[in-house]
Amino acid sequence: MELKFLGGAREVGKSGILVNTGKEKFVMDFGIEVQEGKRPIRPPLDLDGVFITHAHLDHSGFAAGLYSMGYQGNVYATKVTFDLMQMLLEDSLKVQHKKGMNAGFSSQDIGRMGKKEKIMNFKQPQEIGSSTVELFSAGHIPGAASVFIESRGKSVLYTGDIKFMESDFMFGADIDVQNVDVLISESTYSYKDHPDRKKLKNQLLTVIEDTCHNGGVALLPAFAVGRTQELLMMLENIQFPIYVDGMGIRAAKIMLSNPESFLNSRGLSRVFQNCTKVRGNRDRKDAVKRPSVIITTAGMLQGGPVSFYISKLATRKDSAMALTGYQVEDTPGRHLLETGIYSNGEIEVRPEFPIHFLDFSAHTDRSHLIDFYKKTNPQKIILVHGDRTEEFAGQLREMGFDAHAPKNGESLKF
Ligand SMILES: [Zn+2]
Repeated sequence: MELKFLGGAREVGKSGILVNTGKEKFVMDFGIEVQEGKRPIRPPLDLDGVFITHAHLDHSGFAAGLYSMGYQGNVYATKVTFDLMQMLLEDSLKVQHKKGMNAGFSSQDIGRMGKKEKIMNFKQPQEIGSSTVELFSAGHIPGAASVFIESRGKSVLYTGDIKFMESDFMFGADIDVQNVDVLISESTYSYKDHPDRKKLKNQLLTVIEDTCHNGGVALLPAFAVGRTQELLMMLENIQFPIYVDGMGIRAAKIMLSNPESFLNSRGLSRVFQNCTKVRGNRDRKDAVKRPSVIITTAGMLQGGPVSFYISKLATRKDSAMALTGYQVEDTPGRHLLETGIYSNGEIEVRPEFPIHFLDFSAHTDRSHLIDFYKKTNPQKIILVHGDRTEEFAGQLREMGFDAHAPKNGESLKF
């Protein structure tokens, strides 16, 4: 078997891996780097299948681009991943056009891909040629999968984005494969463990309660897919008005129509029914007039309604913002945390309200990664999807693992 890393090696963004079993060729994930729309290396197009681990654009964002280049075969994922992907790809097209970028695919290509979608369920192996492919629940967001491919006595397991601990919103990953030849592992949080999630939740609720009691607005920028819905569930007992703005509304509807894809759909449905879904600027102006909680895209402040709220609230010392997810380098969110200045290319302000960073992660942490490696007992560990993959590979080698952090473009035979 041979692997080639098309993207997402020594970086977070534009994930893509080519698997050549000697008989079949597959691609696992084909994403974009969201800030600048960078794409993975072009694979051969006589592929026998494309597997998408989950809908986030850094894993799925250029899947339709394969069809634009001439790929005509099947794409495999879970049902909710396809539903969410459709929404995210269409939105990504719009955003890239607005920025004057060439997306490299059209809505016709999204349609072409739609006709080639093959829904897979967890733990139901599928035979494609000489290979057997199985998806396992990865616990990251609804629909998120790890991909296991076995062919002619060789095996590879690719985690995708993964989380082992259960949260209020998602069940933990459920993978029962052992002794694989190669384990390709995400390593976003290879360098630290997460704080206790219950404590974080209490901190967040305290920030919200204190802010609203002071007459202010608690602004929660969040990723549309995953974090928005998890935050909603946490706010079940908040006595102040809750507003949801941006694509998180559609994402919540998609998830609610796939209730088996996450925990406690009744809880989400209850809060979702009772919150105000923002439809335009009039609702936005209403939201900032009273003590309230606003959950809005984008999670790393790269665009969307959040800039409206930041500029409206900039001088309001009674208000507060809580960032609740990973802030990738070179995003406005990371810049704001580091400098106190918010800049999105159009406006530049130094908000006077306090900014909190609460690290609710949908990725597993260092200890759980290492536990997983011990349990899975792979011959070789390949680290991707992280800012510190080489450092982590070195540490794993000291622990006795055979670990490697490839570069984009590198191949590996086994
Ligand atoms: Zn993800």
